[in-house]
Amino acid sequence: MQTLSLPTSSPTILCLGAHSDDIEIGCGGTLLHLLGRMPEAKVHWVSFSADGKRADEAQRGVELFAGAQAAAVELHTFRDGFFPEAFGEIKERFRELQKSVDPDLVLTHCRGDLHQDHRVISELTLQTFRNHLILEYEIAKYDGDLGAPNVYVSLDSEDADRKVDKLLSAFASQTEKYWFTADNFRALMRVRGIECRASSGFAEAFYAHKLVFGASSST
Ligand SMILES: [Zn+2]
Repeated sequence: MQTLSLPTSSPTILCLGAHSDDIEIGCGGTLLHLLGRMPEAKVHWVSFSADGKRADEAQRGVELFAGAQAAAVELHTFRDGFFPEAFGEIKERFRELQKSVDPDLVLTHCRGDLHQDHRVISELTLQTFRNHLILEYEIAKYDGDLGAPNVYVSLDSEDADRKVDKLLSAFASQTEKYWFTADNFRALMRVRGIECRASSGFAEAFYAHKLVFGASSST
């Protein structure tokens, strides 16, 4: 299958997640893939609900998944489960974000996500970054909202393994949840790997609502 790549080797990647582990679950393998191959890439990382112990875990997640390539980290403390009530306040954070970063790639929750907090972040991403490449990531959950994504990032098996190991290492407070398991994380990557014929068998998948396509400007 033909592969499209980012047009720059030093992109700024904006990662947006409602809760402290969302970015890592939704696109942690993709971050390991991109950052490992593009040492000049920089990440602007924003988690909107990371309080107390969850803030410590969020910081650990940034260290494990972005390391020194994290140029900026914003950890907000909006109340878990109540983002729709705080919509205006969260929108203000997005307006500030719009002034502080002009990303080459935005990674955010997908618009079809049924978690109310995830949906708010997705909606505000799409409202705020209107001239940008946005890839919307997926998270398997009780609500049963997985669909048919249209963009894939093939992962080598080492990056797939590292994603799972780092998730379990960074988010100790979540490991008692019945879904926060290695087999869950591996299973979704395996299904997406089949769909895009990844040579390792593993991939992460995204939704791109819009892509502008054309010939390269280089000669
Ligand atoms: Zn979440």
